[in-house]
Amino acid sequence: MQSILKRYFGFSAFRPLQQNIIGKVLEGRDVLVLMPTGGGKSLCYQVPALMLEGTTIVVSPLISLMKDQVEGLLSNGIPAAALNSMNDEAENVKVRSACLRGELKLLYISPERLMAEIPYLIKDMKVALFAVDEAHCISQWGHDFRPEYAQLGLLRENFPHVPIIALTATADRLTREDILRQLRMREPEVFVSSFDRPNLSLEVRRGYRQRDKDSAILALIARHPNDSGIIYCMSKKTTERVAGMLGEHGIVAVAYHAGLPADERERAQNDFIHDRVQVVCATVAFGMGIDKSNVRFVIHYNLPKSIEAFYQEIGRAGRDGLPSETVLFYSLGDLVQLSRFAQESGQQEINMEKLRRMQEYAESDVCRRRILLNYFGETVDHDCGNCDVCRNPPQRFDGTVLSQKALSAIVRADEQVSARTLTDILRGSFTSEVLKGRYDTLKTFGAGRDVPARDWQDYLMQMLQNGLFEVAYDEGNHLKLTDRGRQVLFQGKGVSFAVVRHEEKTRRRGRSDAVRPVAAELSPSRPEAVPSAVSSRRQELFEALRALRKRLADAQGFPPYIVMSDKVLQNLCEACPTTVEAFGMVGGIGEFKKAKYGEDFVEVIRRYVEA
Ligand code: ADP
Ligand code: ZN
Repeated sequence: MQSILKRYFGFSAFRPLQQNIIGKVLEGRDVLVLMPTGGGKSLCYQVPALMLEGTTIVVSPLISLMKDQVEGLLSNGIPAAALNSMNDEAENVKVRSACLRGELKLLYISPERLMAEIPYLIKDMKVALFAVDEAHCISQWGHDFRPEYAQLGLLRENFPHVPIIALTATADRLTREDILRQLRMREPEVFVSSFDRPNLSLEVRRGYRQRDKDSAILALIARHPNDSGIIYCMSKKTTERVAGMLGEHGIVAVAYHAGLPADERERAQNDFIHDRVQVVCATVAFGMGIDKSNVRFVIHYNLPKSIEAFYQEIGRAGRDGLPSETVLFYSLGDLVQLSRFAQESGQQEINMEKLRRMQEYAESDVCRRRILLNYFGETVDHDCGNCDVCRNPPQRFDGTVLSQKALSAIVRADEQVSARTLTDILRGSFTSEVLKGRYDTLKTFGAGRDVPARDWQDYLMQMLQNGLFEVAYDEGNHLKLTDRGRQVLFQGKGVSFAVVRHEEKTRRRGRSDAVRPVAAELSPSRPEAVPSAVSSRRQELFEALRALRKRLADAQGFPPYIVMSDKVLQNLCEACPTTVEAFGMVGGIGEFKKAKYGEDFVEVIRRYVEA
């Protein structure tokens, strides 16, 4: 097991659970694996595939995922292929005869194709193992149900002696039970790993207006000069505006949403995968079937509608295990809009509840990772050290007077104003809304002039969270006092506010995070510890290796991360191997890559070492 891992994948140790899982598969047991994205599921069937006699058949729901996996295997010198509707006939004929000659260790196939091939091709092959990837697609409970998966129950009957391994990153109990039942697994061994993704940093920025968001995003990208990232936006229009804004600042960005023609979407996706586009500004339509491992940041320009959606989207960052940043912008406007969508949806109660949980996450002043993992049913006994709350615990102050000013203005305006107009009143701005309602004549007009508008947005959000007023979504989003609000306004009940954080205070870190010393990798200590001369030299090497990777990838038509992950580039920066032998010892370099790429990489590293 160990030598296969080293020889083909270049890794010297298994991750937790991998070894046990592989052991059970080799014993011929049926196995269900629940691991988060990037957890290392593929090795759980790829290593057995290399050890067992015959071919492992991998069922996969998306052609793009199959393509990615097959390219990854081929790039490690492992014979693999895919049978699907995208291949041309000649290609399929070739794959089929390779199967019959027993030349492939792994065959990727779509579920419907598999079913069609059972009486023909599969019957004449030596099947070592069935791996059902994205196994949650079999369950109607899940969010990705695919009717084609339902037929996979027939596998057990048709191949009583071939073990089945099912893998998924969707954890809930009902889906889990459904998978076991539908695949008719025999005395299955179920392995559940933690869903934590400790390499993803978590951060929420509250109450930013468009301009603030844009400059925060530009600052973040400046810290990730050549790194890939995704910006999720609520509307198509926003994706286009943000992509345009980035373009004006010299950042190669594209918009992606369901309203674009299919070929344009495909081009955007390909350009991103092949590192020709740095940033994709997308609606939730983007991301399914993208296995790109070197996504270094995911930004939510708007609040997502549920924690499931949020976790899945940030999960697209850092599949290679390297530190990656996630930032969520949270504003009252988004909350109001999403509440309206939820209210108007068919499933009002469920959707409002999901949104409330998302809101709790965004407004939390305890460790955010705890909240996420808690949501997925994991209890955590420590703070993570890698979220904004842990790094920078919120300071609090007495917000009673500020609350009273706002509440008083709401009352004086007859509870007929939205949060935006209220802010204008407090700030003393003569906007058209203000003039129309003659709010400039109120006693509270300008009473909060000393507080910036953005901070007011934040305080109002905190007041909403504290239940001091409600938003009448069905009545122009006007604010209405609650009993608690009246207690604060008329009886002087105290209110505590969290201090609003400003960009300048929390930011000002080192430059790119791409290259960090290993010790700092997952620990909360940030790269400032590295003397900057060393880190910028190292960054130079990293960039030189990144350029080489791109050249080698383009020459073969592979995405760069298939040639080598960012993690491997980083290992190379640390080890600085100057011989092909030493190159082969680096983590992530198997024998095949050593022979194929050794000379090229060693040459670049030598030049750097000697310079
Ligand atoms: P998943 O399918 O669970 O999303 P992958 O199988 O794609 O995850 O693995 C995620 C990343 O982790 C890949 O870059 C893979 O090479 C790496 N990886 C997996 N197992 C190991 C290991 N034992 N040691 C080092 N890296 C590993
Ligand atoms: Zn934390």
